[in-house]
Amino acid sequence: MADNFNENNYINETPRSKLRGISTKDISNNNAASSGVFTQRENKGKTMSEKNMSKTKTFNVLPGTKMGILSTEYLEKLTGIAKKHGIPFFKITSAQRLSIVGHEPETAEQIWQELGQKTGPKKPVGIHYIQACPGIKWCKYGRQDSLAMGEKLEKAFGDLPLPAKTKVGISGCPLNCCESYVRDIGLFGKKKGWTLVFGGNGGGCPRIGDIIAENLSDDEAIELIGKCLGFYGKNARRLERTARFMTRTKIEKLQKVVLG
Ligand code: SF4
Repeated sequence: MADNFNENNYINETPRSKLRGISTKDISNNNAASSGVFTQRENKGKTMSEKNMSKTKTFNVLPGTKMGILSTEYLEKLTGIAKKHGIPFFKITSAQRLSIVGHEPETAEQIWQELGQKTGPKKPVGIHYIQACPGIKWCKYGRQDSLAMGEKLEKAFGDLPLPAKTKVGISGCPLNCCESYVRDIGLFGKKKGWTLVFGGNGGGCPRIGDIIAENLSDDEAIELIGKCLGFYGKNARRLERTARFMTRTKIEKLQKVVLG
């Protein structure tokens, strides 16, 4: 399955003062959220290395877990590192990534090295993350193989520069556990194939994405996503998310170009 040691990693900060005194017991007692542990501060105007050197923050390390898949070996390695550095807990993020919370800023570099990863974001603006549900392999409702499709999409578009961050949600059936309608690129499986949704957003200004095509095979879906991203890349403004782009671009125009 997925290699967890890729370069699609992120560092965020959590106020260290918020973390002092927080234990795993606190987490299990559900005190963490009310303690503000997961609050992130802005650090505008600083480079990533300046942020890393900050003496007022502690760090979360988010290894590049692909679609939430973690091997037992990787978990054992993480646990060893967490114990060594006195890390109080792990946090699974809403993007199916794993955050290691509460270590000192000075140990960030060391942790990255021990994980066999380079520090900081390495990729251009583009595919931000790919979420996928268990799909037909592991879920009784599954109609398509969402995990395999996630790997294919990462391979095809993982390093593609795009106008803005682009989130992908792949659901193995129409129940849409991965919220495919509110991702920039959404796929959900039916018996006859994939339905492709484009231009969704689940943020502060949500938008239901547009259905571009249905009953697609894996290859057809990938080809069509490539065309949608090509159209988006060519016509979107800098940092314009697909949802805003599709609000000002008629769906018929996109379909005319990508479906011929
Ligand atoms: S979207 Fe469907 S296949 Fe995927 S986890 Fe949910 S119910 Fe299962």
